[in-house]
Amino acid sequence: PDARARAPRPLPKPGILDIAQYVPGKSAAEGVVDPVKLSGNENILGSSPKAREAYASAIDQLHLYPDGRANILREAVSATFKLPPQNLVFGCGSDELIHLIAQVFLEPGDNIVQAEYAFGAYAIAARACQGEVRSAPEPNFRIEVDGLLELVDERTRLVFVTNPANPTGTFLTGEELRRLQAALPPGVALVIDAAYCEFADDPNFDIGLELAQEVENVIVTRTFSKLHGLAALRVGWAYAPEPIIDAVERIRAPFNVNIPAQLAAVASLGDEEFQQKSIALVRQWRPWLVQQLGGIGLDVIPSQANFILVGFPPGKSAAEAEAFLARRGLIIRGLAGYGLPNHLRLTIGREEHNRAMVEALADFL
Ligand code: PMP
Repeated sequence: PDARARAPRPLPKPGILDIAQYVPGKSAAEGVVDPVKLSGNENILGSSPKAREAYASAIDQLHLYPDGRANILREAVSATFKLPPQNLVFGCGSDELIHLIAQVFLEPGDNIVQAEYAFGAYAIAARACQGEVRSAPEPNFRIEVDGLLELVDERTRLVFVTNPANPTGTFLTGEELRRLQAALPPGVALVIDAAYCEFADDPNFDIGLELAQEVENVIVTRTFSKLHGLAALRVGWAYAPEPIIDAVERIRAPFNVNIPAQLAAVASLGDEEFQQKSIALVRQWRPWLVQQLGGIGLDVIPSQANFILVGFPPGKSAAEAEAFLARRGLIIRGLAGYGLPNHLRLTIGREEHNRAMVEALADFL
């Protein structure tokens, strides 16, 4: 294992994401007027009124421990997605589940395989287990099945695929996922992180759940942080074959999902109208943004998520664009940490944000 992976790292410096700067109506940095946070792929419509009501109702239960099995939420997810309740596990965000899965599978010196621009949590989880991280190139910002398979060796225990991927917004087809699963040697599990799957144009996009029910080595993770707009509450769930669920349950902290979070998640699952509105907004504005951003000279990567990755032309700095947008109240995520210093990832907003974004970027360029 890489000793450096366990060395303490410097804490991130407070930056333009200081909370006062992006909560609308709060005192903002000078020159930043009513800023909007489009950096975290959160739900621009907030959260379901039913979820907010359920969250508020938890005020009378603050002295109680939550149901450690999250049974009401378990039943709700089971009914909504037609999945057996015993194949589900709930976590403090899907982040926690990613960590738990890594702990189940990895011994020191084992490795995970992921894509070049993979979501950072997989590598953090692997390092926490003294595991190694092998990253396959993503030509054209697409995950390639053969590239992943090339890196699988006798110490590989997990392959992580985000579908659609963050920060690129690209995706693997059901056929590609099946080919990847079928080619994995015994003892290697495929984790399909479907955090953004609801935003895809194809309403049956999440074939991961179908695949996971057919085979023994596929785990699907989902979250309430994106479509449901409950990122602050930290709720995620995973579907996996029972032996994997049992192994995760043996190491899971007993009260990992709190009461307000469980109640709000259940209420949100029941609010079809909020979900449909949120999905419709993304599906409506995504093609418009792709076309407009391409039209002003940015390199736009086609996306199936609620964000769009854009590359800047030679001579134009993404970091300067980020600061320029911040001065217009548009808080964006730079991607230097992902190895993409010439790109920005823009969360799709409401109409006014999207129009302001295109206008600001056109002015910058
Ligand atoms: N997976 C991906 C690909 C994500 O982008 C995120 C959130 N940024 C997560 C998982 C984590 O979600 P959660 O809030 O459920 O921990």
